[in-house]
Formats: sequence, C-alpha cells, structure tokens
Amino acid sequence: MKTSIDQLAVLGGAPAFAEPLHVGRPNVGDRAAFAARLDEMFDRHWLTNDGVCVRELESRIANFLGVRHCMLVCNGTVALQVMAAACGMTGEVIMPSFTFIATAHALAWQGVKPVFCDVDPATHNIDPAKVESLITDATTGILGVHVWGRACDVDALDAIARRRGLVLAFDAAHAFACSHQGRMIGGFGSAETFSFHATKFFNSFEGGAITTNDDAVAERCRLMRNFGFSGLDHVVSLGLNGKMSEASAAMGLTNLDSLSSFIEVNARNYAWYREGLGDIPGLQLADYRAGERSNFQYVVVEVDPVVAGLTRDDLSEVLHAENVLARRYFYPGCHCMAPYEAEYCGRGLLPATEQLTKRTLSLPTGTSVDEDDIRTVSALIRLSLGESGALADRMGWARRTS
Ligand SMILES: *Cc1c(COP(=O)(O)O)cnc(C)c1O
Repeated sequence: MKTSIDQLAVLGGAPAFAEPLHVGRPNVGDRAAFAARLDEMFDRHWLTNDGVCVRELESRIANFLGVRHCMLVCNGTVALQVMAAACGMTGEVIMPSFTFIATAHALAWQGVKPVFCDVDPATHNIDPAKVESLITDATTGILGVHVWGRACDVDALDAIARRRGLVLAFDAAHAFACSHQGRMIGGFGSAETFSFHATKFFNSFEGGAITTNDDAVAERCRLMRNFGFSGLDHVVSLGLNGKMSEASAAMGLTNLDSLSSFIEVNARNYAWYREGLGDIPGLQLADYRAGERSNFQYVVVEVDPVVAGLTRDDLSEVLHAENVLARRYFYPGCHCMAPYEAEYCGRGLLPATEQLTKRTLSLPTGTSVDEDDIRTVSALIRLSLGESGALADRMGWARRTS
C-alpha cells in the first residue's frame, strides 16, 4: 500500500494495479447453463422472432417487476425510441441532461426535441421544481431517468404530468432490480425502459426492455418492434426491427438466475467503498436509499474541489496512472454534446448539471473487483486528497480550483 505521494504512479511510482481495473466489467452467470441453453436453441432451429427464450425471459421479468407487460428489444436505445413513439411523444419532451447520450438521441431520432431540465444536486435526478417553467405549447411529455438506479421523484413528476396533460415515462436503464417506495421500478409512469447492455447490472450482451401496465401501449410496442406486423402479411403501423435474438435472451435467462449473487457482490463492494471512503473532506459517495431495493451497480463519488484541494479530473488522472480506470459519468452532459450543444452548452441554463458533470467519478465495482482492490483504490484516493496541497504543487495543479 502506498504511504507517500512519491509512490504514486503520476509522480513516477509503479502502478498499484498491473492489470487495469475497469468500470462496467460484465456480470456473467453460469456459463455451462448458458451453453446448454444455446444447444437447446440450435436443436429448436429457432434463432429469433419471439422465440422460446425471449418469451420465457419476458414473462420472468414481468413477474419479477410486478408489471403487466414486458417487451424485450435489441437494446436500450431502441427501447426508448419505441416507447416514445408508442406513448405518443412528439414535439418537445422534457428530460435531464445528466444522463447517457442515448436518452436524448433516442428522442431526437424520433423527431422529438429534447428539452433539457436541470437536476437536483442532492439526488442527481431531474428536478421537478424546474420542469414546469420549461413546458410550452409543443411539450407532450416528461422523460425522467432513474440515475444510478435511484428513483426520480416520481410523485412530483406525476402530479405535474397529470395537471398539464403530459405523458410521463422513464429511462430505467440503470434501475433493473431497484425499487421506489417498495414497488419495483418498471411499473411507473406510462412506461419504462431498461438497457441490458454488457456494462449494465443485468445484461443479455446487447438488449433492452419496455415495461408497462398499459395494455394499449404494450400492444403498440409489440407491433412497432416487429416492423408493424400484425400477422404474416399485414402491417398496421410504422415499425422497425427491435427484436431480441434467442442467444441474447438465453444470456438474460442465465444471468437472471444469478441476479441475487450479483446484487450481493455489488452491495458488499459498495459497503467496502463506504468504509474506505468515509469522512474524506471534499469527497462524497452517492448513497442508496435505506429500505429500497438497489442493484448497487454504480459507485459514484463527488469531488468538491474547494474542500478536497484537487478537482475530479486531477483525481481521475491519479487513478488512471494507477490503472484504476474510473469514468467521468456523465461528462460533459448531453447538453454539451452534438447536436444539442449550440443551443445549450455553457449558457448557464443548467447550473446544477454543469457542476455535477465536473464533480462525479464512477469507480470500478462488480464481480471482477474484490476487497483488496477496493481497499487499494480507497487508500489511493485517501492519500491523494489527504496530501492534495503537496500533490497539486508537484503536478502543477495548484491553479485548478473548479
Ligand atoms: C446504457 C443507457 C442507455 C442505452 O442503452 P443501450 O442498451 O446501450 O442502447 C440509455 N439510457 C441510459 C441512462 C443508459 O445508461
């Protein structure tokens, strides 16, 4: 364990990790069980189009989430596009900028304008108090994002949506197996979407789902994900190819069997980080609400540069040199990415978002990270921030204060 900043790799020491420690290493269940499912799939000669594995996974997920309908699709982005179309989102939709770019792109791809709303700095989620002033005659909906798997202020958003006659839907890409007020995420608003991408808590290689309790929305989603086909030669709506393959669904079924062990590992890792990173001035670990179910997939710290003496980017540089490949989720925010940046970036429209995008850092966790790794990462952070003055001087970082 390094005890002085001279030993840090940014100052010429050997990296703490010989192999890189990644954010978002996939959680993979029983490989033999997956192989057996593939064998059965080949025996059935049925590789895609509403296959046995897809239907089984849809019904198991619907049960698990306590929701009437689950429609599996090929990824979380297509899930958002299909949901937006099926829910009648047109014109403008209000959403946070503090999310993965897919949330905004999915709307824009549908010809819907994403209108970026600031977040609540305490929860990192869309701030309901800021939504109302963004509503125009063109607004048709609100798209909340349950960032880090922590639910949006669903009640407040729902009240606004009802009062103003707007659709409310959620991007729940982070929130598989998480709850809100004791109810599983997946059944809130008109519909919710999930991503089952390899880096997400629960994966099917690539994949996603739309879940809803609304029979009509579900029916439209089912049609749209299969070119609008209703029957063999009959097309009744605009559609695309959003189908999930049997191989992906087999992976999903396999990983679903291991879900509780994934959660256990993530929760344990999170607790070790909490122990290692507690009470460091200027560093705050995003917490998970007591009494709610969480997947603990994201270990996110927020660096206050004034108190910590280093910026998030300084800390990130230290960690990367040690082979700890922490990620700046979500930097620089959708509003500073093409094609949205000309209208939104650097205009002071989203002050809480702009501060957050400069301060958050996502640390490695998941089944490939163990207790020793976490103790080392925590010690590196503690050493860097504990000696931030000396480190900043040596690195020429003293001028960076925001
Ligand atoms: C990953 C992610 C998506 C996109 O999902 P894909 O399966 O990668 O298409 C959308 N929204 C959020 C918040 C995400 O994190």
